[in-house]
Amino acid sequence: MKYLVLARRYRPQTFSDVIGQEAIITTLKNALRFERVAHAYLFCGSRGIGKTTVARLFAKALNCQALSTDHEPCNQCPSCLEILSGQSLDVIEIDGASNRGIDDIRQLNETIGYAPSHGKYKIYIIDEVHMLTKEAFNALLKTLEEPPERAKFFFATTEPHKVLPTIVSRCQRFDLQRIAQAEIARKLTAIAADLKREATAEAIHLITTFAEGSLRDAESLFDQILCFTDEQVRAEHVRNVLGLVPDELLFELDTAFSEGRAAFAFEMVDRLFQMGKDLGHFTEQLIGHYRRLTVAKTMGTASLHLPEPLLSHVIASTKLYTPSQLFHILETLLTGFAQLQRSSMQRVSLESILLQILRSKNRIPVEVLVRRLSELEQKLLDPAAPVSQPIHIPAPSSLPLEIKSAPTCHEEKIPQISPDKDARPQILATKAPEPIIENALPAAPPLEPPLEMKSVPFNPLLTRVEEKTANAPQIKPERAAAPSPAHEAGRYETLLRFAAVELEGTIKN
Ligand SMILES: [Zn+2]
Repeated sequence: MKYLVLARRYRPQTFSDVIGQEAIITTLKNALRFERVAHAYLFCGSRGIGKTTVARLFAKALNCQALSTDHEPCNQCPSCLEILSGQSLDVIEIDGASNRGIDDIRQLNETIGYAPSHGKYKIYIIDEVHMLTKEAFNALLKTLEEPPERAKFFFATTEPHKVLPTIVSRCQRFDLQRIAQAEIARKLTAIAADLKREATAEAIHLITTFAEGSLRDAESLFDQILCFTDEQVRAEHVRNVLGLVPDELLFELDTAFSEGRAAFAFEMVDRLFQMGKDLGHFTEQLIGHYRRLTVAKTMGTASLHLPEPLLSHVIASTKLYTPSQLFHILETLLTGFAQLQRSSMQRVSLESILLQILRSKNRIPVEVLVRRLSELEQKLLDPAAPVSQPIHIPAPSSLPLEIKSAPTCHEEKIPQISPDKDARPQILATKAPEPIIENALPAAPPLEPPLEMKSVPFNPLLTRVEEKTANAPQIKPERAAAPSPAHEAGRYETLLRFAAVELEGTIKN
């Protein structure tokens, strides 16, 4: 027997075999039932989800001579058999991509008047109809306006926005959905059983993830893997064919993140290099991994349909991150991926992305800093105000930061009167600009003699004009006189530096 690829061998032959398009199938069956069949249909949707399959089935049902009570084609009458063998004179399939000119449509217009040979209708299925030229569309429009009574048009397209609106408005339009992963998995399992082959749940999961809702893509890949091995199909076979790295490496990255091992970035890229993997392709896989963790963290693992033992691994990894760390990493990856694709030094780019991920363990979100600063300011105004737990400041050794310019706020001597001249601890000395600080953030609280400080109102909207009106006679900054001003001010300053570093990072990104 002639070899047929899986996608053709297991193509649905009845409406009930079609998966994932229930609403459309019901509408089409009702059209048959109530004999309200329009003269033109437009089937839209992404590749491999069954547009032409549904169009062919509908054509077969329309011409079937022994339609079942459930409006399914019989697949046995002469008309059905002709369509099955692709030799029907009444169901004409045209590839819009290769027959896109006006002459092709003129030819169609000339033959459309002839009566169907066996069936009730003469049906034209035009695939990739958006590829037709404008002239061809216009020639088709004339026929669509006044179609012969026994002619039907079924159009299929992946890009409905490219079809002339005047054509679309003359069609009944159906938008086919992408097929759910679970449904594709069920179909692949059924195919494996029919072929007397075995496949692990993890292998099937990998194939369905790759297919992104396209049944044809899933079937084609499965076909390829069945040729790749004659044993049970396992995840490693799928990864081999797809050029993916093992998930274990991704979970190792999660562990390195939780342990703060930045050096793992280089180790990982080195291993990828040794394996000969495409670094861009790997980054896509990494984005998929972090997306999976983010979904698991925010929505739970149920929607991911993960098989064991993958599920346990993902749950364990999810616990190593906070939600804001995951959001930040995803953002870093997406920006980094765009840069990596343009980069002529992909290896270094990937190392940099991984370093950023591993380093982000110690990152303090800006919003936390801002909240903390305003709390502290409240505390300075009113010692009874509540303050949340101090931010965890990592040990100096785990802070691989290098600051090339100190926060600029020290430079200016702001001639400004403190809003209230009471015993508030005053901050921000009229100190000389700080030199380069290296790896010195937590060491920043000054141990030197108490500084001359001025208070800085925490109000970014306060304009300089307002300040200037109040500055006529320069007032010498007062010395701080609160109970433990040096301590409070030291912490305040440390936080300010953190905020500056964090903001600097944000601006760079
Ligand atoms: Zn039939």
